[in-house]
Amino acid sequence: MIKLERVSKKYKNGTYALQGVSLNIKKGDFVFFVGPSGAGKSTLVKLLLKEENVTSGKIIVDKKDVTHIHNRRIPFLRRKMGVVFQDFRLLPNKTVYENVAFAMEIIEASHRDIRSQVPMILSIVGLSDKQKSYPSQLSGGEQQRVSIARAIVNNPPILIADEPTGNLDPENSWEIMKLLKSINRRGTTVIMATHDKEIVDIMKQRVVELKKGRILRDEEKGGYGYEG
Ligand code: ADP
Ligand code: ADP
Repeated sequence: MIKLERVSKKYKNGTYALQGVSLNIKKGDFVFFVGPSGAGKSTLVKLLLKEENVTSGKIIVDKKDVTHIHNRRIPFLRRKMGVVFQDFRLLPNKTVYENVAFAMEIIEASHRDIRSQVPMILSIVGLSDKQKSYPSQLSGGEQQRVSIARAIVNNPPILIADEPTGNLDPENSWEIMKLLKSINRRGTTVIMATHDKEIVDIMKQRVVELKKGRILRDEEKGGYGYEG
């Protein structure tokens, strides 16, 4: 589903954020990206989303080489990837329903599809009774579930979560992890960058550890593996 071949990223100020990173993520994988601050996790996520361009190397998504795709093709690439952030990034003046519907409006889905799909997805994330609430009226865990609903409502094959439990207590974090795992079980490839040692150690999924821009370790059923 995603292939990186010797990817390097050097920022304008000369920092090498990634160096010679090669990685193969298959359809249906669940992968944790771990590593200390500055290891290159966010840069990796930004390259996948085409928020930044590689300095050298190749990125293949869904069998297509997207390394040098034209700017006007980027929206089509992003439709393949739902994204969830630590800080939720919901629209404060829209209800739960409207936040999720908005993701479908952007891709010009029909009103009919929106009316059927949004309640269905909200029931998957357990928020059927909160459709008319505004983000400020929800707990952190509920807000993150709205952002997951928004990320998956258009059925992307890939879900990227950047520190999705970073602002949540352990109980809400586990609710989010159960949800991500159940989305993964239905066939979506899930990539999650995290600092949450307990979650990584208990979930026993594939772990890719980055350090100073290089892959230190890539293990099936790995653990968090480093201190701090
Ligand atoms: P992580 O997400 O693992 O904390 P990052 O990808 O954010 O790591 O950072 C990797 C390295 O790249 C760090 O040394 C960081 O300071 C540097 N870096 C990140 N973004 C930029 C940028 N826009 N300009 C210059 N250097 C950057
Ligand atoms: P399963 O795949 O067995 O149905 P779940 O999807 O419920 O498991 O949870 C995924 C993983 O998270 C499992 O390894 C489970 O043991 C762990 N887990 C779920 N809830 C908690 C919790 N509250 N505390 C610690 N671990 C948990």
